[in-house]
Amino acid sequence: MLVPELIQRKRDGSSLGPDEWHDLIMRYTAGEVPDYQMSALVMACFLNGIETQELGAITDAMVESGDRLEFPTGLACIDKHSTGGVGDKVSLVLAPLVAAAGVPIPMMSGRGLGHTTGTLDKLEAIPGFKTNLSLAEAKAQVESIGCALIGQTPEIAPADRKLYALRDATATVESIPLISASIMSKKLAEGLSGLVLDVKHGSGAFLPETDRARELAQTMIRLGAERGCRTVALLTAMDRPLGCALGNAIETAEAIGALKGEGPGDLLEVTFALGSEMLILGRVAGSATDARIKLEDTLRSGRALEKFREIIEAQGGDARVLDDPGLLPSAPEHETVKAGRAGTVSAVEPRALGKGIVALGGGRTSVDDVIDPGVGFTVHVRPGDQVAAGDPLATVHARDRAGIELGVRILEESIALSDQGPVDLLPLVGDRLG
Ligand code: URA
Repeated sequence: MLVPELIQRKRDGSSLGPDEWHDLIMRYTAGEVPDYQMSALVMACFLNGIETQELGAITDAMVESGDRLEFPTGLACIDKHSTGGVGDKVSLVLAPLVAAAGVPIPMMSGRGLGHTTGTLDKLEAIPGFKTNLSLAEAKAQVESIGCALIGQTPEIAPADRKLYALRDATATVESIPLISASIMSKKLAEGLSGLVLDVKHGSGAFLPETDRARELAQTMIRLGAERGCRTVALLTAMDRPLGCALGNAIETAEAIGALKGEGPGDLLEVTFALGSEMLILGRVAGSATDARIKLEDTLRSGRALEKFREIIEAQGGDARVLDDPGLLPSAPEHETVKAGRAGTVSAVEPRALGKGIVALGGGRTSVDDVIDPGVGFTVHVRPGDQVAAGDPLATVHARDRAGIELGVRILEESIALSDQGPVDLLPLVGDRLG
């Protein structure tokens, strides 16, 4: 079939057959279908939608476009995927915690793009830490120590890599079916038995509206379940940042503190909720209560921290950061913004703070940008807190005085005080789907 005819059918609201999708995606990956034709087709899909069976065929073809991790029978690997949020350093705590509790995790994560930072950048803040393992190295590490923390290798779903770059350049990213196929193709290629999705909603989320976040979760759950990967999703709050540290190295330091049981409470709560689902999917716990007890015990005993040490050493990093987070990169300039008056904190706006990290040099506007891992914000208050005049609200970590001035302005615009009573917030851990 000629590509213009396929584009025409999607343009006019019809669907393509599974074989047509398979052939098209294979030819696109091989460079036989040009970007301009694929862009037209993707825009037609964006505007007219994609039917359930088309979506399955697209996802399968994207998985088949590359290699897959295959684990020996009996090694039931489980992973977690977050749709991304500001201050979301859950993976750094969750992966060693769940691996130490007995569930193997081949965790594949992304870099920060847009207003959210990425797990790979936080890991690479640890001196020497290597995230670009080959699939063979990742597999061997999961088999030997139960966890590998890696980026999307060139062998995994190359069709998605190409298509995602195309969507990014053609304003077609925000399509629920295309996002679902993109995320699930990478996860299915990991050879997982189960997957837990952390789907964020609220103003700082990739899809802020709850209904759209729920639809995304349900679409991914269906794609996973139909392909033998039991998939569960939790809707979690992103109407305020998660934890206090925002920015790569300071988030890594906060995650290390969490592995020592030092909090913050919201970070640990989300980690335990996702971890419980992972222990149940991995058949290491029989119920949510059992899972929670196991996770709390693993954290308290120090086994989770020791597992992180093993992972860091296996991936070439300097594990002394666990004992001395001062070895992480830091910014030389700091300034704390204080409350100008007494009141209730009515908003700590995550999207504005996320964009602020990018403006300070800690995030990317294009995939090739080099980031400054030390910059960011430490937020000392949460929505609903009462403050007195002069109380610290947040601290800027910047490279120079210009960064401090910019960061202070961003904080003043992002943190609001009011005289109203209680503040309406999304539940930290909301609905469970799947
Ligand atoms: N993350 C992905 O991996 N793919 C998308 O399409 C959007 C977010």
